[in-house]
Amino acid sequence: MNFGSDVFTDCVQIPAPVEDGEPLVPPLVASTTFVREGVDSESEHQYSRVSNPTVAALERSLGKLEGGLPALAFASGLAAETALFLALLKSGDHVLCSQALYGGTTRLLEQVLGGMGVSSTFVDTTRTEEVRANLRPETRLVFLETPANPTLDLTDVEAVSALAREVGAWVAVDNTFLTGVLQKPLALGADVSVVSTTKFVEGHSAALGGALITRDEELRERFEFVRKCTGGIQSPWSAWLTLQGLKTLPLRLQRQSASAKRLAAWLTTRPEVRRVHYPSLAKGEAAELANRQHLGAHGAVLSFELDGGTRTLNEFLRTLRLPRLVEHVGSVETLITHSASMTHAGLTSAQREKVGVTDDLLRLSIGLEDVLALRSDLECALNAARVGESTVVTASEGKS
Ligand SMILES: *Cc1c(COP(=O)(O)O)cnc(C)c1O
Repeated sequence: MNFGSDVFTDCVQIPAPVEDGEPLVPPLVASTTFVREGVDSESEHQYSRVSNPTVAALERSLGKLEGGLPALAFASGLAAETALFLALLKSGDHVLCSQALYGGTTRLLEQVLGGMGVSSTFVDTTRTEEVRANLRPETRLVFLETPANPTLDLTDVEAVSALAREVGAWVAVDNTFLTGVLQKPLALGADVSVVSTTKFVEGHSAALGGALITRDEELRERFEFVRKCTGGIQSPWSAWLTLQGLKTLPLRLQRQSASAKRLAAWLTTRPEVRRVHYPSLAKGEAAELANRQHLGAHGAVLSFELDGGTRTLNEFLRTLRLPRLVEHVGSVETLITHSASMTHAGLTSAQREKVGVTDDLLRLSIGLEDVLALRSDLECALNAARVGESTVVTASEGKS
């Protein structure tokens, strides 16, 4: 994978050589308020609920990285989504969504927007014909998440965007897992790219944040207006931390994707593992889509099904030394999640089955550790899980 120089300059803020003594790192401007010269002054910033120099520096970089106008940065990914929905939807409107959405997005649409008269339908958008069949005249927004969490199935953003355009609906893509480094939804025809910067962009599990990016001036103005009205802007401190994280985003994703790809391939060779989900393992049309839609790599997240039930899972998780069991992705440390009891615990087992979350599915967000160290750690844990399993069998055989 070879990133062009563009990605580097999008992510690293190099000050124009304007003055001697210019700080190399954009300063953290914590002021809520900015003074004016007189009644007719038109200063760029007035009040930090509307705009702030540190937040604006992050917005310029994120906008360039996603191939759009300067982003609008929010306090969290869900604050960004709230502004998106409030800006685009009114009572009576319909939203068509990927069924494997981030749980917080589903909850926001069903339990908050639903109560305001906005209806949402969740379908398998990885099958473009399901999108076609479920678009309605009142569909105003198609909200996609690709790759899907945790099965990593892909939705064809270009094909879905073309269908949505026919009925006059906007398309938004949750680009949190790949970011503008590995996937550019706007170039694929989407109207809005939504990113939770809390995950890979900031990358160090130290600051919440979210962003909306578009190429459409009018849409951008709507988002900015809703943000001013509702007060969901990102704090300068979070923006400053996120700018620091952004500088290494391409490098982190490059290494993490390479490790994820190697580990995914290795996991398929293990007898304890029933199934591995990662885009580089796809065949046929799915492989073709992965290579067309992703920019040279498939990201840090993979998932796999471990044969054997709860006891095996617990033995495996207890033996692991490197990955931490958390509900999070995108950090420099490798993280592991048991989707059924953590991210997808709010769903019924039928709903979980529909989105491919089996009880023995584990999701890994690969970090920056040495890939061989990770592999041997996983290997030890798989061996321990298998030994634990056979001990149980022997014990029960002994009794009978
Ligand atoms: C975490 C996450 C969100 C929500 O972002 P927050 O910053 O936690 O509000 C949205 N989408 C995806 C895919 C996420 O992983």
